[in-house]
Amino acid sequence: MMREESLKVQEAVMTPAPFTADDYKARMERAATSAADAGLAGLLVAPGPDLVWLTGYQPTATTERLTLLVLAPGQEPTLVVPTLEAPDAERAPGAPVLTLRDWTDGMDPYSVTAPLLEVNGRFGVSDNAWAMHLLGLQQALPGTSYASLTESLPMLRAVKDAHELERLAAAGAAADAAYEEILKVRFSGRKELDLAADLADLLRQFGHSQVDFTVVGSGPNGANPHHEAGERTIENGDMVVLDFGGLKHGYGSDTSRTVHVGEPDAEEQKVHALVREAQNAGCAAVQPGIACQEIDRVARAVIDEAGYGAYFIHRTGHGIGVTTHEPPYMIEGEEQPLVPGMCFSVEPGVYLPGRFGVRIEDIVTVTEEGGHRLNSTARELAIVE
Ligand code: ZN
Ligand code: ZN
Ligand code: ZN
Repeated sequence: MMREESLKVQEAVMTPAPFTADDYKARMERAATSAADAGLAGLLVAPGPDLVWLTGYQPTATTERLTLLVLAPGQEPTLVVPTLEAPDAERAPGAPVLTLRDWTDGMDPYSVTAPLLEVNGRFGVSDNAWAMHLLGLQQALPGTSYASLTESLPMLRAVKDAHELERLAAAGAAADAAYEEILKVRFSGRKELDLAADLADLLRQFGHSQVDFTVVGSGPNGANPHHEAGERTIENGDMVVLDFGGLKHGYGSDTSRTVHVGEPDAEEQKVHALVREAQNAGCAAVQPGIACQEIDRVARAVIDEAGYGAYFIHRTGHGIGVTTHEPPYMIEGEEQPLVPGMCFSVEPGVYLPGRFGVRIEDIVTVTEEGGHRLNSTARELAIVE
């Protein structure tokens, strides 16, 4: 027991080797090739998770000035940047394998970018690009057309390499360590917001640089999957949904456990056991070649068969990587087959309006042998004070 705990702490504090310029070069080449395969002339990537993944560059401040990575097959990857931000961009880990093209206030950034683009090309654009920049480019090059990068290349970041998986595992271990600690904390008589603050502190203590969400849904609030945390005071007898995560070393964590304050009643135990069974079934179904929707179907069938199908009101899971929500989605209609290296949540839930909710969530990675969970805290209903 002690030994297990110290291993977990070790995993939670280790610092991975940074990605190299070669790593970024390989990603950019792969992205350009995938774009060509998808019939695109190239990719236009604005600051955000795609740019971070492709180049390691995250401008210190997001401004209205155009920053855009242009990737096209057979062309040098080029980052268009405002001159005043160029020194910042030059320090990015991917900078050695990038050509920087800067533009100064007073210049038209779109006419600086236009020569890099095929005049009648169709380009994939990162989903967080500003509309004003897209409209500016369209005006500079009326023959071009654009597609959502997420829609045209949904699997671009989906298959993680060994170094990415290491970081995801470390983020998961840190979230697990936070959960172990929160179980020792007093729940009854405290507000959801106080518990949420405790969780955020713990995530940071275990190495998270960013906390994305700390859901504390007590009693009836737990029946609303989008409830974060509020003024409600947690009472003895409450079920409490905990769902928290963020980024550590640039990669995401996201885990849920549902705990009970004091002794649970028979239905609370039954619903919790049901969700646990559904979550186990979903994890056990993970195999290379299985369609994403199959994970959703398997987990949902368990809940349907027990008569609670109407209360499982969301998809079963989502991908995770440099963001905490991304493709692939474990949802009916998603036929994308699972590939070793994919990483996603399996998080079925049951939400009984006005009463309580239960959700259990682990991040799972696909291996040749099946699913491997990156969260390993006990899934049995924990009793808290
Ligand atoms: Zn209760
Ligand atoms: Zn979650
Ligand atoms: Zn999730």
